[in-house]
Amino acid sequence: MDYPPYKAQRIVNKVCYEYKIPSLYCFSQRSAGKLLFVNPKKSACLDCLLTQEDTEHFNKLVSIFLKNQDLLITANTLTNIWLLTSWICKKWIDMITKNVNYCDSLWRYDFDTFSERKFQDFRKNEACPTCGNKVNNSLLWEILKIE
Ligand SMILES: [Zn+2]
Repeated sequence: MDYPPYKAQRIVNKVCYEYKIPSLYCFSQRSAGKLLFVNPKKSACLDCLLTQEDTEHFNKLVSIFLKNQDLLITANTLTNIWLLTSWICKKWIDMITKNVNYCDSLWRYDFDTFSERKFQDFRKNEACPTCGNKVNNSLLWEILKIE
């Protein structure tokens, strides 16, 4: 589910958090894909990551993306999407069978080098509009408002 950008993922994140259903999110670009896992019972959620990115620059970028979504198509190939989905399945199976925890991190898979790395750590944020306890009136949540 990818449309509308950011908002679609926020809706899934919110529903999964409320029903305590583990979920995963993936983003693709021309040269790489990114992945994060969320376990509502013990990890940060997608909105915790976005809260961490809540800057004037990011808000401007998201606004431009939402206003021009038909013009800002991310070029990709089917083979890269296959690589990405295979990588996601492997990470998910590893979490289950090897009892490793990939939550609270954004992971990146590089299509040029066929390699992965932890891209960014993030943690549960009390100012998160989904799983936090503090009121957050940031402009970001007005831009990415979901009902
Ligand atoms: Zn959260």
